[in-house]
Amino acid sequence: MTAPSALGVDAGSTTCKVVAVGPAGEMVASRLEPARPGIEEQAAELVAAVCAGLGLGGPAPVVATGYGRRLVRGAGRRVTEITCHARGVFRALGHGGTLVDIGGQDAKAIRIGEQGRPVDFAMNDKCAAGTGRFLEHTAARLGVAVTELGGRALEAKGEERITSTCTVFAESEIISLLARGADLDAIIRGLHRSLVGRIVAMARAVGIVSPLILSGGVALNAGVRAMMSEATGLPVVLPPHPQLMGAYGAALLAAEG
Ligand code: ADP
Repeated sequence: MTAPSALGVDAGSTTCKVVAVGPAGEMVASRLEPARPGIEEQAAELVAAVCAGLGLGGPAPVVATGYGRRLVRGAGRRVTEITCHARGVFRALGHGGTLVDIGGQDAKAIRIGEQGRPVDFAMNDKCAAGTGRFLEHTAARLGVAVTELGGRALEAKGEERITSTCTVFAESEIISLLARGADLDAIIRGLHRSLVGRIVAMARAVGIVSPLILSGGVALNAGVRAMMSEATGLPVVLPPHPQLMGAYGAALLAAEG
């Protein structure tokens, strides 16, 4: 069994993630769970589970990131998600670019410089409409699993225009569209267009340097990836395990001491 040299904990608003890295900075284990109200206990349980899975008895250095990072017990350091995602992605891909991290409750555009350090960033944590919450909320209203949304957006024959700039009003708009007999997939495609429009505007604020890289849970949505590429005219690159990049970057920083 490879002994991990360090651990990263990303206590996000929507999911809690733990990654262990080995001596060469390779990811050797990970856990991800939907976030529970008891952040402190959940993070400790996931760290214990990762260590037990690796047969690790002794303590390893821990860096915590994410919205709940202050509540992670035993963390030697607490580092912003911006720094951690940039570091994780740079290491996973071996290059920089403009990184867009779309999580459950916020989204960030980060220009990655040398050694994976962020040189500029923009963030939206004020409005749900530019985050994963927008798709989660509207998916629930449409009775479609969030994991199916991207495929359905891509397969849609048409596209309904969603004009509301707010998640709550977008839901009202969906109800009106459904009442008019609009096609479900066309509505889903319109919702993706709306989210992507907001995200691209944020990315342009930091300056988009090719390639465009996606991380965070929403990066798993193929519709978002395709429409981001269409909107910018740039290739979209995905690191392996995009949702774990914050925890991975945190573990790399913990290994550096
Ligand atoms: P945070 O770090 O803010 O807790 P994450 O980066 O874990 O958030 O992202 C959570 C978001 O990712 C949720 O809004 C969820 O809907 C979305 N998501 C997670 N898995 C998938 C998937 N397989 N397909 C599409 N979206 C996904």
